[in-house]
Amino acid sequence: MTALDGLPPLREVIATHDLKAKKSLGQNFLLDLNLTAKIARKAGDLSACDVLEVGPGPGGLTRGLLAEGARKVLAVEKDARAMGALAEISAHYPGRLEVVNADALEIDPLVHLTPPIRIVANLPYNVGTELLTRWLTPKVWPPAWESLTLMFQREVANRIVAKPGSKTYGRLAILSQWRTDAEIVMELPPEAFTPPPKVHSAVVHLTALPEPRYPADAGVLSRVTAMAFQQRRKMLRASLKGLGGDVEGLLEEAGIKPTARAEEIGLEHFCALARLVAAR
Ligand code: SAM
Repeated sequence: MTALDGLPPLREVIATHDLKAKKSLGQNFLLDLNLTAKIARKAGDLSACDVLEVGPGPGGLTRGLLAEGARKVLAVEKDARAMGALAEISAHYPGRLEVVNADALEIDPLVHLTPPIRIVANLPYNVGTELLTRWLTPKVWPPAWESLTLMFQREVANRIVAKPGSKTYGRLAILSQWRTDAEIVMELPPEAFTPPPKVHSAVVHLTALPEPRYPADAGVLSRVTAMAFQQRRKMLRASLKGLGGDVEGLLEEAGIKPTARAEEIGLEHFCALARLVAAR
């Protein structure tokens, strides 16, 4: 039997190539090609884009990306066992799929791609958060990529898009929303995966802004928000004592009440504070 794209169904691919999911690699596979095509569509029109896919595994999402018309896909997979299955997809889409057997945390494949570049991944959650942080903190902005479409544990997705005043609002929200438009575009129950994980998942789409939403030095903003959120329930005049000098005066100058707590403060005010700290 063949699937819509003319390749064998993913269950068969997994059996043929003996790709039993490994917990150590965070392997929870998507086997429904309608679903993977839907995720690929959330990344936008890919026909003029090079796509970096991290963690293709047996290739469900890879096939979705190619079927949806991606100009080229560069797939980086740590598990050598998946190479045979991915080679079959590559042969089916001549010249459009390049596969690299490597740890995505160890290499920077973006340098091999031609802009415009989009990044799409269904990754183990710890690797996903680490890569997201790296992609959001390149040396120069705008970054090499136009957008990121990434699967996360739903709780992490909520932290990325959280607004001030919510329990999940913190450093990840500030880092993400400072330089991108971020939104949750799909939610998936555990049963969507094989084997099913313990938690719900969500796809977040982040579009790079041409420049940060408000001016600030990335390093100073990171330092100030780290300090502010380390004790998120404390008043800022106390949690930011480590900045030294007249912290209350600094907060007031930034338009922030010294008695406010980090979780109440929006991005604009954190950036104002970071600019004042940098200027001191
Ligand atoms: N994309 C496939 C899908 O949707 O069915 C697989 C998703 S599975 C959640 C995560 C994949 O990432 C696995 O294939 C795993 O081997 C791979 N992976 C885990 N850590 C990785 C790393 N550091 N670099 C590259 N791939 C990694």
